[in-house]
Amino acid sequence: MIREMIADKAIVAVHTFLITEELTMKNLGYYNGTFGPLEEMTVPMNDRACYFGDGVYDAGLVRDYHVFAMEDHLNRFYGNAEKLDIQVPMPKEELRDLINELVLKLDQGDLFLYYQVTRGTAIRDHTYERGVGNLWITIKPATITDGKKPIGLITTEDQRFFKCNIKTLNLLLNVLAAQKAKDAGCTEAVFYRPGGRVTECAHSNVHILKDGVLHTAPLDELILPGITRAHMLKLCDQMGVPYVEEPFTVEDLKAADEILVTSSTKFCMRADRLDGEPVGGKDLKTFEKIRSALYEEFLEDTKA
Ligand code: PLP
Repeated sequence: MIREMIADKAIVAVHTFLITEELTMKNLGYYNGTFGPLEEMTVPMNDRACYFGDGVYDAGLVRDYHVFAMEDHLNRFYGNAEKLDIQVPMPKEELRDLINELVLKLDQGDLFLYYQVTRGTAIRDHTYERGVGNLWITIKPATITDGKKPIGLITTEDQRFFKCNIKTLNLLLNVLAAQKAKDAGCTEAVFYRPGGRVTECAHSNVHILKDGVLHTAPLDELILPGITRAHMLKLCDQMGVPYVEEPFTVEDLKAADEILVTSSTKFCMRADRLDGEPVGGKDLKTFEKIRSALYEEFLEDTKA
């Protein structure tokens, strides 16, 4: 297994790790060169994340110790940090190596990987001194699912700020929407702007199938450019599934042949309920084509 092959390398860590426990951790937290079990990690109160949510993050899945779509996620992460004038404390190649090393310390290989960079540490002040940011990484076990099981959705008005295209830590309205969905016995909340335009979900992108065509919201400041969305469009190109990147509305959702929800952790799922009413189920063939292509790509790319 890859884990055994590179275990030696993992032990010779270039960072000043305080804990030398290897290959047996249930979960892991890393902060600026120090790592340990997540529940035992602490961070400085003056990390700007605590006052302003002043940082950006990225996240994805690991299967059998292989990080999926790492380059896509790292590119988005460094791009977002740059947009907000935040400096990641190491070059991309070094972070890639560090993540690969840390993943190997876990006692199972199917994992949820999360990392964020925050704008340094300082007494609270809206303005900031430019300098190197703080790097946080968390890794925890994941149960990987194939997305076959249909999900329920609710709709909720999108009252977030603009710049939803930047993956910042400021997710307050996403958190409230996700909880509203959970309380309604659903998996996701679909955001719509005044006027009815559907943007995305609390932690996923949303798309529809109508008459064999995939409709997905255009990439603007209202949605996160999902890595799974990008992979889906690339696969649609390859499979000859036509798509348009155009705004659609809640009414379009209700009338869709299928409603598709995509994210790095759940790939592609379809909805069978929207605000308690039955939806979709009219183009299972195209849905299945897209779902299985995304899942197969993941299995293939993370193969030992
Ligand atoms: N939109 C939001 C608000 C998200 O939080 C996420 C994922 O976390 C997505 C869309 C899907 O993005 P990705 O496919 O990169 O996971």
